[in-house]
Amino acid sequence: MSFPVDLKEAWGGGRYNSFNHVLKKTFHSRVHKISLRMDFTCPNRDGSVTVGGCIYCNNASHTPRAYRPGMSVSEQLEQGIEALRQSRGAEKFIAYFQSYTNTYGPLGKLERLYREALDAPGVVGLAIATRPDCVGDDVLDLIADISRGTYVWLELGLESMHEKTLRWANRGHGLKEFVDAVERGKARGLRLCAHLILGFPCESREEILQTPALLNRLEIDGVKLHNLHVIKHTVLEELYRGGAFTLLSREAYVSLLVDFLERLSPEVVIHRLTGETYRELTVAPEWSLNKIVTLNAIQKELAARDSWQGKLNLKMSRESAATAALQEVTP
Ligand code: SF4
Repeated sequence: MSFPVDLKEAWGGGRYNSFNHVLKKTFHSRVHKISLRMDFTCPNRDGSVTVGGCIYCNNASHTPRAYRPGMSVSEQLEQGIEALRQSRGAEKFIAYFQSYTNTYGPLGKLERLYREALDAPGVVGLAIATRPDCVGDDVLDLIADISRGTYVWLELGLESMHEKTLRWANRGHGLKEFVDAVERGKARGLRLCAHLILGFPCESREEILQTPALLNRLEIDGVKLHNLHVIKHTVLEELYRGGAFTLLSREAYVSLLVDFLERLSPEVVIHRLTGETYRELTVAPEWSLNKIVTLNAIQKELAARDSWQGKLNLKMSRESAATAALQEVTP
């Protein structure tokens, strides 16, 4: 079976359902995300869940360069919008609450911040990144209310569906919390995106490839995928420098990622395929710094296999071990 023409047309010629293409279809022009850092913290750092944070986390790695402590949402957006207007002629933007846990605070504060972002000229929507154990019903109700008037994605960090990995990474939550958050979010009609890291050293290829079936079964709307990379000033850096594990090569990651895409439903929007951060904060792998080369390698691998997102989806979604895993955690 060759790449179906209807999918090719729906995806603008690409072999996967890319977020950029979805945004273009929705807003009839390119839409740029502007990352924000507010004065949130994280229950995985302040002791509410645990301390120390996830072993790979350094929030400086996704803090905008222009950020200065105390900057308001409006100030950060104004700065980001001006820079993108000048460099790319951009006119439409999504305000991305990215750093730390962006639903971890009093409801009134959350509403004020989200609505302030939507008031900025050119902002057409929101993306809100958080932990699956930090979205109470009140928070989901608020986001659902805002979603009725604008375009919103709620991004939930799962990172791995395997409990042993979540423990190793000190995530402080399990798969159960993710499934619960997704079910309550879906019940409110929210667009949900799952964050996942591929390449944890404690997982086999087979274990990693159980995840698409879980996401298909949950009818997740989007995924953000990236390779495990090591960032400075993290526990992961200490482990890596001590020789505790190795990282995937670019070739191995590309092959694994394409295997993953083949098993994922074509409905799922792909927000990201590879991770990168500032050179001065990156320990390894060196290849992660060149995103363009990695994205090109993914396209090449898909074409070489004459493959596409969802090619193997039908077979996997009913039979994989992920279905059993989901049943175990669903009451
Ligand atoms: S939940 Fe997010 S912000 Fe908190 S420690 Fe983990 S990666 Fe960092």
